[in-house]
Amino acid sequence: MLLPSEYLGRQGPLAQRVTDFAPRKQQMEMADAIAHALERETTFVAEAGTGTGKTFAYLVPALLSGRKVLISTGTKNLQDQLFHKDLPVVREALDIPVTAALLKGRSNYLCKHRLTLAEQDAHIESKIHIRKLRQIRNWAIKTKAGDTTEIPEIPEGDSIWPLVTSTSENCLGAECSDYNDCHVVNARRLAQASDVVVINHYLLLSDMVIRENGFGELLPIADAFVIDEAHQLPDVASNFFGISVSGYQLNELVTDIAGA
Ligand code: SF4
Repeated sequence: MLLPSEYLGRQGPLAQRVTDFAPRKQQMEMADAIAHALERETTFVAEAGTGTGKTFAYLVPALLSGRKVLISTGTKNLQDQLFHKDLPVVREALDIPVTAALLKGRSNYLCKHRLTLAEQDAHIESKIHIRKLRQIRNWAIKTKAGDTTEIPEIPEGDSIWPLVTSTSENCLGAECSDYNDCHVVNARRLAQASDVVVINHYLLLSDMVIRENGFGELLPIADAFVIDEAHQLPDVASNFFGISVSGYQLNELVTDIAGA
């Protein structure tokens, strides 16, 4: 069997399939080091400068490893790019039957139950909201994944999304009449069954918190994790595990102490 670096070399399949592909020494070394770490089930940390081609450097060994690998990116945009662009290129070049899934947090998937509720809600009088609900319904009929990024006209953060997506508090779970065809449930099932799952740091840490508190799990059990853009992980982690104190709270505390 070829080493990952050979797949990324001058005569390798990526050079033959990708236009303007240029073999890079650091990329090849990084790929072999990652393969070694996967085999030994150990940790490997690399700081790869721009132009190293780190995405291919971890995708090649991850796909070749035959293990269940979770790849986490810093942002959802990069998550989409990795899943829809880079991963298919590498998978096709390696010509191996690796299954892959994209998994995001539940607020990124249409909730069919809540869409119906929103359409029936007599309090929704805003014409803009009614128009957006129609747009969402037209899309809901066609979409397979129910990923909200499939409607670019309604951007992330739009006030309509909380009305038609779910939270763990308002989801009906197995009691829901749409459960068998629920986008959140389907995305999680697909992630369970796939060899490679592309997630983001936010979901990775949410899963850690939920597991720690004994409330279940969001992610499938994996053999290995690839943390891309790991420099962003501490910031995201501080949102989950950190404690924040505002200037106002500090001021109150000092005032209380001074008055005691
Ligand atoms: S199971 Fe939950 S997320 Fe899925 S459609 Fe029903 S309420 Fe929405």
